[in-house]
Amino acid sequence: MENFRRLSIAETCRTRLGPACLITSFFLFLAGGIAHATGLEETCRLISNKLASVSLEDCLDGGLLLSGGYSVQGTPLLMKEYPPLERRLPQARVLVIGGVHGDEYSSISIVFKWMRILDIHHSGLFHWVFVPLLNPDGLLRDASTRTNSRGVDLNRNMPSSSWREVGYQRWLDAAKSNPRYYPGPHPMSEPETEFLVNIINSFKPHAIVSVHAPLCLVDHDGPGTPAKALGNLSLRRLGNFPGTLGNYAGVDKGIPVVTLELPSSARLPSSGEISALWQGIVRWLIDNIPVESEPEGMWVETERKELEREFFGK
Ligand SMILES: [Zn+2]
Repeated sequence: MENFRRLSIAETCRTRLGPACLITSFFLFLAGGIAHATGLEETCRLISNKLASVSLEDCLDGGLLLSGGYSVQGTPLLMKEYPPLERRLPQARVLVIGGVHGDEYSSISIVFKWMRILDIHHSGLFHWVFVPLLNPDGLLRDASTRTNSRGVDLNRNMPSSSWREVGYQRWLDAAKSNPRYYPGPHPMSEPETEFLVNIINSFKPHAIVSVHAPLCLVDHDGPGTPAKALGNLSLRRLGNFPGTLGNYAGVDKGIPVVTLELPSSARLPSSGEISALWQGIVRWLIDNIPVESEPEGMWVETERKELEREFFGK
């Protein structure tokens, strides 16, 4: 945890001047049709201009930081940490990711909504890191795309062992070279993917929640008991594909990966369903991600119940 904090703060770039500015100006010239930003305010402005359900205030006042990671076009990748609270040992570390695919708007907006819930209810039950938008270049195009600005599907570019074995061939055969699923020239060829791998390796989450749309289901990769349902979404296993987050983190690294596929890419679920999904996630984590091998994972049942009450506000 300490390593992660040092890394994230040391790499956080708050300045808008300097070499990065020159580099991103160059990319702006090349990018054609992809809006991009170099600082937090500009990034938030572009996101809120694109997504009606994310206000500029939501983005700016939410405590998001520049992570130190950047997209291909030089747009900062934003993150937010909800660290352990004093004298409350968290049950586990959890990473939440939205916007892996830039045209799945709801997967980004809902992560912003969940952060608003946590802003009020963070009780120290878990140590969270949120990455609400992994693929800003895909979102911020005039016509948003699933892939990043080099046409790579970030959820086929993770450095899983299966990518090296069959990834490219699987794309040629099973995906029939569909450009929407292009896995890239080699595993982790993209800076967005490398950023995600670095977070996983430094933060060492005990569970990962990744949000997509529009298949309307819950999927589960890696160890642990899958949630049968979260909110109105029911479990339906999609199987493993080379280079996915589920394949890399779930299968190769043994971290449970819960994937939510929202029912619509364009339309956000109702506020009741947003809350129900969040409560479902937290309850599943409480019941399924005990960290028994680490001292801080030991829980006194009464304290746990107390925290749970606090978290859900009842
Ligand atoms: Zn997706």
